[in-house]
Amino acid sequence: MKAEIIAVGTELLLGQIVNTNAQFLSQGLAGLGIDVYFQTVVGDNEARLRQAIDIARSRADLLLFTGGLGPTQDDLTKDALAAYLGRGLVMHEPSMAKIEKLFASRGIHMVESNRRQALMIEGADPLDNETGLAVGNALTADGTHYVLLPGPPREMRPMFEGPAADWLQEITGDMKPLYSRILRFAGIGESSLEAALLPLIDGQSDPTIAPYAKEGEVALRISTKAADKAEAFARIDATVTQIEAVAGSYLYAREDVPIEQEVITLLRNTATTVATAESCSGGLLAELLTNVVGSSGAYAGGFVTYTNGMKHALLGIPMAQLEGPGAPGAISESTAALMAERTREIANTDYGAAITGVAGPAESEGKPVGLVYVAVAARGKPTQTFELQLNGNRSTIRIRAVKQALYRLWR
Ligand code: ATP
Ligand code: MG
Repeated sequence: MKAEIIAVGTELLLGQIVNTNAQFLSQGLAGLGIDVYFQTVVGDNEARLRQAIDIARSRADLLLFTGGLGPTQDDLTKDALAAYLGRGLVMHEPSMAKIEKLFASRGIHMVESNRRQALMIEGADPLDNETGLAVGNALTADGTHYVLLPGPPREMRPMFEGPAADWLQEITGDMKPLYSRILRFAGIGESSLEAALLPLIDGQSDPTIAPYAKEGEVALRISTKAADKAEAFARIDATVTQIEAVAGSYLYAREDVPIEQEVITLLRNTATTVATAESCSGGLLAELLTNVVGSSGAYAGGFVTYTNGMKHALLGIPMAQLEGPGAPGAISESTAALMAERTREIANTDYGAAITGVAGPAESEGKPVGLVYVAVAARGKPTQTFELQLNGNRSTIRIRAVKQALYRLWR
């Protein structure tokens, strides 16, 4: 079954609200084993709505609408679909009674337009609205299925998960739900990971392996359809084992969590701590670490030492190391190592992590954009340094540098 989600609302087209309903419904339909082929957004305009219906009908079996079930004149979804199908609108008495009762209990006068929320397309099944007044509609006409849900997420979500999902299960009957697992990787780019896994991805149709990029990281979604949950996960686990054999050293989580969270978890579990020193990333490493709930148990704090003067003043790095004839420079392996070591000593932590490099757009110290040094100092161990040549614009280089530092800490 091919589905198309049609989000109705001029507010969406104007960019005043974000189409979170489409995301929610796409995930929900995938969970029911229904493939979403298209997402459409159309304004509160009957002619264009009918046009959208016409196009969607030509390429999908299920049209799932959200929005435009309210009482006002710009709420047109039911009118447009009824007109398109050549059907009338009929009053759904239980919904009407509910609306009348609500207005009576609040002592407010009910205007005629409120009755519109209880209207249904002739022949449609009602979908109960537990958190609002507009009744949902579900119907099948000429082999196409239509489901109409309200726009407000707090009404739409329970309606989808309850009555709409039940209705869809009934019409799809033997459809198998989709199970999936997310694997998260760091320290490797999307194209390198894809290249490493290419033989596996190519030779594999079930479970499917779909890579997608996260900010500075890569994730894989392993999915399969199965009647039985245990059977689905056994299949997924077998695929994960194959992936581990190829790229296991970059695989840091079997769920959808960012690497900074894994780093904090690891530090907490081993009762160890870290402090940071950052140059080109300007505090982004500190930002990501402190964004993790419970980070105070593992993260001591950090320095943003952007200029050479600050690297000297705060971390005590000799000026002769940073500038002047023959100096290694701020962007160097040895400066990264000193930054990590000094930070660790000052904070008296188990680890110190440092980042220094060229985020661009212009080169610095005659060194190319994207050249980044990451260092990890550990108490009583030799400091590890890593030279990286990162791709991207200023902000991607910064996030990639930070994710690399987190990956080195995690390892
Ligand atoms: P109402 O009875 O509130 O008018 P409705 O079913 O007519 O509901 P709309 O008028 O289209 O729905 O939208 C009402 C509100 O619901 C919007 O102002 C917005 O806050 C939210 N909303 C609508 N569509 C979406 C969407 N696609 N994603 C997220 N929120 C949405
Ligand atoms: Mg409305």
